[in-house]
Amino acid sequence: MSDEYDAPLEDREKKGAGDGRGAGRMISLKKSLRAKFTLILFIVGMVPLAATSIFFYYTAKDALFKNVFKELKWNADEISGIVESHFAEAGKDLLIASQNTAFNMYFMDPANRSKWVSEQQNTLKYLRTVYPDVIDEACFIDSTGQEVSRIVFDKLAHEHELSSEEDRSEFFKKAFLLEKGEVFQGRPMLSEDTKRWVLPNATPIMANGKKAAILHFEVTMTYFQRLLKSLINPDRGYGFILNDEGAFMAHTRLELGEKDPFPMAITPGVPPALEAVYRRMVSMESGIEEFSEGGKSYYVIFRPIDTAYHKGRNENRWSLAYVIPSERVYVELAILKYNAIVLASTVVFIIGLAYAVGNYVTKPIRELARATKRVAGGEMPRVDVKREDEIGQLSDSFNIMVEAVKRRDEALKSLATTDGLTGLFNHRYFKSELDRHVKAAQRFSRPLSLIIADIDYFKHYNDRNGHPQGDAALKTVASVFARSVREVDIAARYGGEEFVVILPETPLEGALVAAERIRKKVEEEPVPNEETQPNGRLTVSVGVATLKEGDDMIKLIEAADKALYAAKEEGRNRVRGG
Ligand code: GH3
Ligand code: MG
Ligand code: MG
Repeated sequence: MSDEYDAPLEDREKKGAGDGRGAGRMISLKKSLRAKFTLILFIVGMVPLAATSIFFYYTAKDALFKNVFKELKWNADEISGIVESHFAEAGKDLLIASQNTAFNMYFMDPANRSKWVSEQQNTLKYLRTVYPDVIDEACFIDSTGQEVSRIVFDKLAHEHELSSEEDRSEFFKKAFLLEKGEVFQGRPMLSEDTKRWVLPNATPIMANGKKAAILHFEVTMTYFQRLLKSLINPDRGYGFILNDEGAFMAHTRLELGEKDPFPMAITPGVPPALEAVYRRMVSMESGIEEFSEGGKSYYVIFRPIDTAYHKGRNENRWSLAYVIPSERVYVELAILKYNAIVLASTVVFIIGLAYAVGNYVTKPIRELARATKRVAGGEMPRVDVKREDEIGQLSDSFNIMVEAVKRRDEALKSLATTDGLTGLFNHRYFKSELDRHVKAAQRFSRPLSLIIADIDYFKHYNDRNGHPQGDAALKTVASVFARSVREVDIAARYGGEEFVVILPETPLEGALVAAERIRKKVEEEPVPNEETQPNGRLTVSVGVATLKEGDDMIKLIEAADKALYAAKEEGRNRVRGG
């Protein structure tokens, strides 16, 4: 832009006129006040807001994730704790029940066996009431594998129903290996009576210092399914228990039939990330992982359930998993996202505001710039800014300046066309007007005449009366010319003591009449000390010429001049035309 201002004035004006927008100078975005306003408002308003918002977003997000994972872990620990305590409680209750004398007295007091058996049945019933819907079956089995007493649900077994299978199961053999006060908890098996999946528990009964029998009860596996379902809110997520063979012991989203085989976790359709989690669970690891399934993303926390019973043996190695959809974690994050949206809208609003303010401030300035450019182009525009502020003041000053320029312009124009001494038009104006009139007259074949007058013996007058007096006489003669011509005629001072009159639409005859009238008026006009002039008065000689076809301005002046010369030659104070 600055280059433009180093260019010569003429070039600049051309450029300005060429771009047609009036303002001429293009303001680059970097330099524009509007852009600066926008930037300043943006920095002042937005930067601290954005900085704090971003800071809070990230700290809040961090804290939120920590909280969510902490909560997840806490949930998983709690659920696993409940399952663990179940194992512990069951074992403890079994031990307490085994302390009942009815079991060992059965061997030590064979005479009253029927009494002890009914006592045993009461104990088994009691166990059943402690764990309603949990204990499927409870029984007392002697060392030969013969059942002594049994309860299936609440139903007592009659003597003839009691089983005597020696190879009752692997479980029975394992249970017999236990020491006093120990509890054995075996792997899930199908109950012989109900054919449902159960978890067997057993503890030895000692008689005379020897293992004489085992007390046994079976916990239904559906118990764990129900337990898990009661502990996990399905709206929040789901959970499952996996054993060391990779089978689901419980699953809040699956219907595990009480008699069906346990479903295996790893099946062909399982996503790899989830499969990896299953494998880690099978090897009793713990952790938190993310996986996606069916287009949804989840977080899973998993940990082994501590089933290592303090005294005795537990064959179950289970692992618990708690799964929540990632979107649950992000629900809270969504609130933060709203904050981000609010922030973004604020950014847009502030930029808009800044732009509007910038525009409000700079619009009149741009208007002024445009108006100034028009002044340079010769127009005299007014700006109409109705504002009381500094810009209003600037606009008022601009209007005052334009007024002053206008006045000076007019003064300059009249100075340029008027002769300073006589008030008649000057030589330059005469020339331009004559040129114009000659051209018009030629084009439209109209008559045009020219008068040239010269004061006679003016040198003499000057010599006698001095130059100032000569000037006064010149003014007097000029006033005669001014008074004696028509409105349309142009009287000018040609130079020195010579005067000219352009007479449009006037043929020679008319011009001679006008010339004679002027000559006569000059002769009659009283001029101080004119009596000392050679012919006793201050007079003029006048030459008149009319434009001939094909003649130009010069020819017309020459012709008038020639006529004037003739008037002088013939004795002065007369009119001659040609
Ligand atoms: P003539 O025209 O009759 O032949 O005699 P003249 O004495 O008038 O001769 P000329 O026209 O050649 O002389 C011009 C004189 O006019 C010269 C100068 O002294 C006088 N003159 C010209 N311009 C001015 C002026 O502006 N003021 C005064 N006071 N005198 C002027
Ligand atoms: Mg002269
Ligand atoms: Mg003269």
